[in-house]
Amino acid sequence: MIQRTLVLLKPDAVQRQLVGRIIERFEWVGLKIVGMKMVWADKEFAKKHYAEHVGKPFYKFLEEMITEGPVVAMVLEGVDAVPVVRKIVGSTEPSKALPGTIRGDFAMHSYEHADSKKSAVKNLVHASDSEESAKREISIWFSSSELFEYSTVHEKHVF
Ligand code: GDP
Ligand code: MG
Repeated sequence: MIQRTLVLLKPDAVQRQLVGRIIERFEWVGLKIVGMKMVWADKEFAKKHYAEHVGKPFYKFLEEMITEGPVVAMVLEGVDAVPVVRKIVGSTEPSKALPGTIRGDFAMHSYEHADSKKSAVKNLVHASDSEESAKREISIWFSSSELFEYSTVHEKHVF
């Protein structure tokens, strides 16, 4: 099924200058970038994006992390894009994320270390976790005029 999903290159990814190397991984598999921009979110916007985590013990750290600098926000489209992007991103805790995933290859933070430093787990990327959250998150971050339809070579030669 063709799906759309929201990806954020969080402030740690932008500040570590990993933007190109991260986006490349999504392009490798043929996911199509249908929207992309740089945004510096404020606290109110963070609460909307991370609504499911507001009130959790680590929420304050999460809010500080996501608002500490600009993010690169993008919408990716492709076959089963929601689970495929989560697979490419890897599991939440970088110390456990498999090599070959973005979090496994470019980060090493653990929950324990992050909590002891009063920081969110620095894992570089946000990716929607279900089709339902993808729809909600895309509508928060992008207006319909910021999303585009066009053909990639994958649609012409690979599918
Ligand atoms: P994700 O969907 O894989 O990003 O994970 P979640 O939606 O569960 O959590 C959102 C973000 O909050 C994660 O990417 C981490 O940056 C951070 N986070 C999640 N759980 C913890 C935790 O137990 N401690 C800390 N310090 N940060 C956490
Ligand atoms: Mg999540």
